[in-house]
Amino acid sequence: MPRKAEAKGGAAAARPGRKCPICGKPTVAGFRPFCSKRCADIDLHRWLSGAYAIPAAEEEPPGEPANDNES
Ligand SMILES: [Zn+2]
Repeated sequence: MPRKAEAKGGAAAARPGRKCPICGKPTVAGFRPFCSKRCADIDLHRWLSGAYAIPAAEEEPPGEPANDNES
């Protein structure tokens, strides 16, 4: 039975009132959630440099079959 898997940040429409987390300007559809490529790049660099505290994502562990059968 397939679960209802909603992808994060999928087809979510840009909502008015959103602001760029970098500079605070209104976001632009093409650069969500940022206002421009510049800000997107800045955010990316923060990521790469580890400035962001990344919480441990609790995703399904890959390659771990749920097999409880004893053979
Ligand atoms: Zn910005």
